[in-house]
Amino acid sequence: MTSGSLNARRRERELAELAAGERVDVAVVGGGVTGTGIALDAASRGLSVALVEAHDLAFGTSRWSSKLVHGGLRYLAHGELGLAHESAVERGILMTRTAPHLTRAMPQLFPLYPSTSRVQEGVISAGVRAGDLLRRAARTPSSVLPGPRSIPPLEALALAPGLSANGLRGALLAYDGALVDDARLVVTLARTAASFGARILTRLSATSLSADRIVALDGISGSTVDIHARQVINATGVWAGTLTGAVRLRPSRGSHLVLAPGTVPMGTTSVNIGVPGKTNRFVFLLPQPDGRVYLGLTDEPVPGPIPAVPEVPESDVDFLLSLASSVLARPLTRADVAGSYAGLRPLVEGGGRSADLSRKHAVLAGPDGLLTVVGGKLTTYRRMAEDAVDAAVRLAGLPESPCRTARLPLLGAASRAELSLVDAAPRLVARYGTEAPRVAALGEVDAEFAEPVGPGTEITAAEVVWAVRNEGALDVEDVLERRTRLALMPSDAEAAAARVGELVDKSLAGLS
Ligand SMILES: Cc1cc2nc3c(=O)[nH]c(=O)nc-3n(C[C@H](O)[C@H](O)[C@H](O)COP(=O)(O)OP(=O)(O)OC[C@H]3O[C@@H](n4cnc5c(N)ncnc54)[C@H](O)[C@@H]3O)c2cc1C
Repeated sequence: MTSGSLNARRRERELAELAAGERVDVAVVGGGVTGTGIALDAASRGLSVALVEAHDLAFGTSRWSSKLVHGGLRYLAHGELGLAHESAVERGILMTRTAPHLTRAMPQLFPLYPSTSRVQEGVISAGVRAGDLLRRAARTPSSVLPGPRSIPPLEALALAPGLSANGLRGALLAYDGALVDDARLVVTLARTAASFGARILTRLSATSLSADRIVALDGISGSTVDIHARQVINATGVWAGTLTGAVRLRPSRGSHLVLAPGTVPMGTTSVNIGVPGKTNRFVFLLPQPDGRVYLGLTDEPVPGPIPAVPEVPESDVDFLLSLASSVLARPLTRADVAGSYAGLRPLVEGGGRSADLSRKHAVLAGPDGLLTVVGGKLTTYRRMAEDAVDAAVRLAGLPESPCRTARLPLLGAASRAELSLVDAAPRLVARYGTEAPRVAALGEVDAEFAEPVGPGTEITAAEVVWAVRNEGALDVEDVLERRTRLALMPSDAEAAAARVGELVDKSLAGLS
């Protein structure tokens, strides 16, 4: 196995190899969860792989999610049993085998107020019980995701002290999976793929694609690079339609607000608030391991050109604040909003010859033989990748080898029992798994590295150095926006920017 470290030197070397004309088996366009999942699937089957990403790993939708590993309940509500089962299976794989370090069980509370009718209560109760059946069918143990139960008001208030006690008649408590961070899953997938020899190249924007060739612009040198492959796969999410006519997308915006630690007393339990007039739509208050709370999400169609970074409109802010306030002891105001983010769902409209349209994700072969993979969820990325690589192997006549990813631990993964014994702070173990002691050790070599990079954050200088040496961060923005997520609260990013800048410069200069 090659090293799983990604950095500027490795990028330079590998880009030069491709520019010199070396042909790979599979070339992937897009460094979100789908593209990096495909790179890992193909590389772990023994295929040679290159991935090009226009900006940085997890630059697109993959970093703007709710950070949940869904059990498929929402698919069940639409009568899509197969898809619901698939989602529950993939959740189980992530939580028990491939990424226990990056996932946790998240308690979800459905509080019951006078505004919740008995019919709505019945629907929620049936839903969480069906969700538990899905968990059992997927063979995810209740030690990982406990079963649901009804709880009295006092217990609900103990779990989520910020809830209003006024009229609270009890709650339903269920469990689903959550990620420590979505961008971290993407970076870990990319590094694991790199450990199998995949070339992961950021700042490389594809300008044209065909079945066996990518023409890309190097965002660092400004030069054009020709990449040759036996099969090219377009995994550019909401941007997929800008590179091929074989797929049409109907993007839909989902917005979240970020509340600073302490704004809503929440503990670790998320709260699901029913949207009035809809039996099956909820807004979530999602507490994070660092104490921040995400409040989301909306679902609005957005026609027209696709922005690089979508914005949160005022109407989404008002909608989310007013719904959350309806269940909180202290209503939220705009002054409580410390940050916000929006992502675009890559919803498929159709078109092209379908290589696989049996699920919500689609693997489409265009008339020119270019493969495009879109749709799906973060949770089901592994299955999407498996289907995409199977299609690539068939289409390009690549050497056949079975998919290995259902049993392939990502870098840093270990069983929960083993993780509990890792000799490092739990916060680091939740982000780096078994690699946490190596991150912490940087702080032992240089005491300065053990210090936080700014006030109000626990993120240390060592994590910034690690991001540049091992996680492919090329500049300050990569670190603030996607490796640490400090930028989800602009005030945190501002306070840390100068220190992070120094560390990035020093670490880049020290790369060999
Ligand atoms: C608001 C919201 C919340 C969500 N919450 C959840 C959740 O909690 N759980 C869950 O399972 N799913 C969730 N999803 C769904 C999930 O986030 C997406 O399905 C998934 O992230 C899509 O990943 P992707 O890799 O296909 O696309 P992206 O992450 O968008 O990746 C595409 C990449 O392609 C790159 N790219 C574009 N054009 C080019 C080019 N010309 N050359 C090179 N690179 C290019 C982009 O920079 C980008 O990095 C959510 C979605 C949204 C919108």
